Amino acid sequence: MTAPTYSILIPVYNEEPVLPTLFPRLDALVAGLDAPCEVLLIDDGSRDRSAELIRAALPTRPWLRLLRFARNFGHQAALTAGYDHALGAAVVCLDADLQDPPEVILEMAKRWREGFEVVYGVRTKRQGETPFKKFTAWAYYRTMRSLAKVDLPVDAGDFRLMDRKAVDALKQVRERSRYLRGLVAWIGFRQCAVPYDRAERFAGETKYPLRKMLRLAFDGILSFSSVPLRIALILGFVVSVLSILAGLAAIVVKLGGWYTVDGWTSLAVLVCFIGGVQLTVMGIIGEYISRIYDEVKARPLYLVAENAGGAA
Ligand code: UDP
Ligand code: MG
Repeated sequence: MTAPTYSILIPVYNEEPVLPTLFPRLDALVAGLDAPCEVLLIDDGSRDRSAELIRAALPTRPWLRLLRFARNFGHQAALTAGYDHALGAAVVCLDADLQDPPEVILEMAKRWREGFEVVYGVRTKRQGETPFKKFTAWAYYRTMRSLAKVDLPVDAGDFRLMDRKAVDALKQVRERSRYLRGLVAWIGFRQCAVPYDRAERFAGETKYPLRKMLRLAFDGILSFSSVPLRIALILGFVVSVLSILAGLAAIVVKLGGWYTVDGWTSLAVLVCFIGGVQLTVMGIIGEYISRIYDEVKARPLYLVAENAGGAA
């Protein structure tokens, strides 16, 4: 088999209800693209019948490949595996739940042919998402932009097309706490945006509960910014100055003979406040240390249990 022009990566985690609709959409997409294409489904340790459904679809679709993980390694790891195994000259990431309309890829391919090396989708509308998710996403992208030193595009998710050159550059970045949106911004290259309306999840529920979302959010901030550490330092400094002033005031009060025993309230307040600040600061430092520990262990980012379909 000659190398395909396009590789389409789709992470799949417990997406059984979506798959029967995904395949016809992919058939249409493959037929509509202007060059040969492969579709790589990365089964991120699904506990439902996703892998079986994909395996059943393989024989009739020579362009389809399945990469099954040994367990759930997470969305960002699945995309990383996709980038590692993709053969195409242009690589596109897509959500399995049809939230990112496959048709937008045609638009992205056009910009790629114009010479852009990274073409990312920017969500103009988000249908069917809660006001909470919309607000937190809105606030997060803006906070992240002001904290991080990379030029992170606002409202861009993982729906993007990358040229082979950019993919090879990204593959060299092997850090553990992966925040691909940040890493893609970091590698540079000629980038451009394609606006699109984000559709509603087709079926099933979101695989990004609040816990995973917070983890991704923290990974993003902590791996691209040392501002939190600086905040810790400034906070520590301000509190130390205040405590020194309070100490001096206590001595003056004592020497002046205005001393009364009922000063314990302010003392208790001060002790609690300083204790609280110390714990916060240590927590922030701990977050960085735990990430350093993860990097030092240097475990693989994912483990592949099955590689089927396509040329494999
Ligand atoms: N996903 C994954 N592993 C996970 C969580 C999610 O591979 O641990 C996949 C999921 O199957 C989907 C994509 O990542 O294709 C995005 O997840 P989802 O649509 O649930 O996120 P949302 O769009 O709600 O942010
Ligand atoms: Mg989704």
